Amino acid sequence: MVTNSQAFDRAQHILPGGVNSPVRAYRSVGGSPRFIQSAKGAFVTDVAGREYVDLVGSWGPALLGHAHPAVIAAVQEAASRGLSFGAPTLGEVDLAEAIQRRIAPAERVRLVSTGTEATMTAVRLARGVTGRNLIIKFAGCYHGHVDSLLAEAGSGVATQALPGSAGVTPATAAETLVLPYNDLAAVEEAFATHSGEIAAVITEAAPANMGIVPPSRGFNEGLRRITRAHGALLIFDEVLTGFRTGPSGWWGFEKEVLGADFTPDLFTFGKVIGGGMPVAALAGPAQIMDQLAPLGPVYQAGTLSGNPVAVAAGLATLEAADQGVYDSVMAASIAVGEAVTEALTAAGIPHRVQRAATLFSVMFGEHAAEHGSHNYADTLANDTFRYGPFFHAMLEQGISLPPSVFEAWFVSAAHDDAVINRIIEALPAAARAAAAA
Ligand code: PMP
Repeated sequence: MVTNSQAFDRAQHILPGGVNSPVRAYRSVGGSPRFIQSAKGAFVTDVAGREYVDLVGSWGPALLGHAHPAVIAAVQEAASRGLSFGAPTLGEVDLAEAIQRRIAPAERVRLVSTGTEATMTAVRLARGVTGRNLIIKFAGCYHGHVDSLLAEAGSGVATQALPGSAGVTPATAAETLVLPYNDLAAVEEAFATHSGEIAAVITEAAPANMGIVPPSRGFNEGLRRITRAHGALLIFDEVLTGFRTGPSGWWGFEKEVLGADFTPDLFTFGKVIGGGMPVAALAGPAQIMDQLAPLGPVYQAGTLSGNPVAVAAGLATLEAADQGVYDSVMAASIAVGEAVTEALTAAGIPHRVQRAATLFSVMFGEHAAEHGSHNYADTLANDTFRYGPFFHAMLEQGISLPPSVFEAWFVSAAHDDAVINRIIEALPAAARAAAAA
């Protein structure tokens, strides 16, 4: 048996920062990340043999909980037939059709391996189709580590308080216009200033990488109206929200629950559609998607794209994710969110729990309590110093939260009443620790 700090010491000698993705590194909360050796349902077990209730959920994919029996069986069956062929398989067609059944505008689907590849390809496709160079993104939105999309990005870029990334050329950065979220006037103005030059607006369907910042009523529809009026594409990044905020993602939630009526040009998906394996996708109308190679001039490829074992996990996940799963994820999310409010209120900490369907996150401070967060500037007004002590008090009691205040808390269908009660019981001590900070 090793301790987590021994594992981390060893890792730091070979992996930069001891991790393969910065968000795992506990940089903002301090301490050694838990090195996980196994996971089941709502729980993860670290290398020291300690079990935690998991609210990281692999950062989104674990909708059903970890190691769901149907998903593991599908992966084992697929693996027994070979790991990768570099030739098409029917599993890829099955997964693409399953996506289309839930998202009708996904007439064509291109499977890739990461969300980053999906957004990178969507941007290239938008530029290829429109013959224009500029892209609009919103401050605080994260779309993966694509050069042109790292400016004022959320997620780990926000956690480390970076303006963007070194290594992105000024020429690339100059082709991205970064605007405040939830501000349609700023979008109108950018299109007026750069008439005929903007290829696409890319937006998180409901931002979840600067804390949860739901779009204002009509914001996404407004983006659709403006982009259409100017001949630009609307890229709807549902890598995180897709098949998590509901059976047809945030797009379906806005349509069915909030009564919105719009269709983006391109969707990007990831996380849940791989069920824990590396699968992501971009999707949209045939007319646009068929501009991709081999039919069209926009090149994109991948040795492991549509990997047979990975798509088997994704398909089994979508097949198991029935309405009952979404109902229980929603119920768990509401129960935990309300308990957080109760505990923080009892400890006298001004805060706000922000929500987008099944997703929620906690924002600390007077600004959040009074105004909520509508954009990245609001989110940055968080009393972030309260999160470290809160996080560690939860961890101490066996609850593993995302190690950054800017991230969503991911519940799953395996977070049943007993699990939720464990979280609720741990919250008052964590709230007191946050109050003492
Ligand atoms: N888009 C969004 C909205 C995301 O949340 C993420 C990852 N958190 C990505 C894109 C990038 O996905 P990946 O990490 O698989 O490259």
